[in-house]
Amino acid sequence: MANFQTHLTASTILGVGYGGAAYGMYGMPPAPAILAASLCAVSGMLPDIDSGPGRPLREITTLMAAVVPTMLFGHLQHFGLSQEWIILIGAALYVFIRFGLAAFVRHYTVHRGMYHSFPAAAIFGELTFLLFYSESVVLRTFIAGGVVAGYLSHLLLDEIYSVQWDGSPRLKKSFGTAMKFYGEKRWANFSAYAKLVLLTLVVFKDPGLVEQLQNGQAEQVVEELRNEIPAAWNTPAPSPANPTDADGHTLPQPVAPPSSSPTTTWPTMPSFAPPASTAPPGPTGQ
Ligand SMILES: [Zn+2]
Repeated sequence: MANFQTHLTASTILGVGYGGAAYGMYGMPPAPAILAASLCAVSGMLPDIDSGPGRPLREITTLMAAVVPTMLFGHLQHFGLSQEWIILIGAALYVFIRFGLAAFVRHYTVHRGMYHSFPAAAIFGELTFLLFYSESVVLRTFIAGGVVAGYLSHLLLDEIYSVQWDGSPRLKKSFGTAMKFYGEKRWANFSAYAKLVLLTLVVFKDPGLVEQLQNGQAEQVVEELRNEIPAAWNTPAPSPANPTDADGHTLPQPVAPPSSSPTTTWPTMPSFAPPASTAPPGPTGQ
């Protein structure tokens, strides 16, 4: 089994790649790119939350206690709650996660149980999608994607470490317990898939998502990405052969716009968005 440092190193490298690619290739602003990279790095520890009392559980619950209330901030402001209520809710959540959730997880989870599984990665991704407040579904998906990437890097690394090399490869007993769709315990499987189904329903009931899918923004984003990829990789679309006039002289080519011109416009970070009354929801300037 890979240790704490190895997991953190791998997920940090992956996070830098994930945020860096979004920033460098798709024009993602630096703040969300750094946030997604950081969440990817932190999520590399997340599956070991079930490893009993010790460093992973302590570090993860402390970080979650700080990050979750901060991410909820945008939602609470959107609901028009006063600053006093937001502080009270944030403090209550901190105590709940730091002590209540930590104690619950310590007593009721089995190491290498369903926290080390694909449905768990999806669950944490969906939770992040719901927690992170933004009017852009693309931005929320990107941030949630960072969490899923970090989570999966942990599962993959655990599987890699379950192969031992003594001249020839030998599988340890733990092989196949990290990257799995279901475990041995029926109740744990049921519980994980029930959460996954419930969260998936909530994600698709999310007004922001429905609104933007109805507005056709998803298709627009896919179209933009399709145009961006060749531009980023400097592979211009094939152009027709040089046109010639009646005498066979080559005609001047029309001047094409530079292929690397950015076409994607990302919304600004809405971390301190004004209340709903002053910021009506709706399509951003896409
Ligand atoms: Zn693990």
